[in-house]
Amino acid sequence: MKTIWRISVFLLLTLLTQVGGFIYLLCLPVFHRIDKKQRNNYTRGGLKLAFFLIVYISLSLLVVPTIAGLFGRVPLPVSSSGNIRPNSLMTCLMNRHYVRKELLNVLNRASAEIKLPIYYLDASFPFINGFPLLPHWSHNDGKKLDLTYYYSDKMHPGELQGSPSWMGYGFCEEPKPGEEDMPCDCARKGFHQYSMLRPLVPASLHEKYEVNTAATERLIRTLASDPSVSMIFIEPHLKQRWKLSDVNKIKFHGCHAVRHDDHVHVQIR
Ligand SMILES: [Zn+2]
Repeated sequence: MKTIWRISVFLLLTLLTQVGGFIYLLCLPVFHRIDKKQRNNYTRGGLKLAFFLIVYISLSLLVVPTIAGLFGRVPLPVSSSGNIRPNSLMTCLMNRHYVRKELLNVLNRASAEIKLPIYYLDASFPFINGFPLLPHWSHNDGKKLDLTYYYSDKMHPGELQGSPSWMGYGFCEEPKPGEEDMPCDCARKGFHQYSMLRPLVPASLHEKYEVNTAATERLIRTLASDPSVSMIFIEPHLKQRWKLSDVNKIKFHGCHAVRHDDHVHVQIR
């Protein structure tokens, strides 16, 4: 039973954070000693969790970025006040914020051009080309990155921010009547994962926040004008609604992916 539990934890941590499973294995000898010394289940669990988090965070901050350099990847900035910022610190804590240096350069150029901070979501893991960052199968080489659209609180329309969704995804700009409706088409074709993140975000957030079309369009056009950028994904109805039909780099990602009316996906050559 214990072996099955340990294999499950290893797999889960590896899928979520790449390095977490390996760090869990490193911690096992200490867990073993804690098991021997502590009789109370809660104390044992608490001590093990605390020890794992200390080791995981220390290695993630101090060791992983250096080794990632050997794989040609750099961590995106972690600060919430810089030009390039995480929409949620969890992205960084889970080591899902690694990119090729060229992609970071693209972001810095775009941010300087539009004079706005850029809020990022999932990028890639630090190591190994081909290791997917689920649920994004293509985020496996440091060349792909998701960014939030720009939003504002309806009470303070001038102040821009990243996605109000707790996970950065799922706050969707729905197709309107008469627009191309890929979420509906994909569901009809049996691709039920297409809108899977949407129900996880309270619909009531739409009463408080709205997308800022002008700033988001500027971000997308600026990214598309960068020679290093090869492709951008947003939902077809937004490409039409935001008058971006002339931007050839914006493509449809296909029904096998998830919907892109809550974020923009950008990738480099
Ligand atoms: Zn993506």
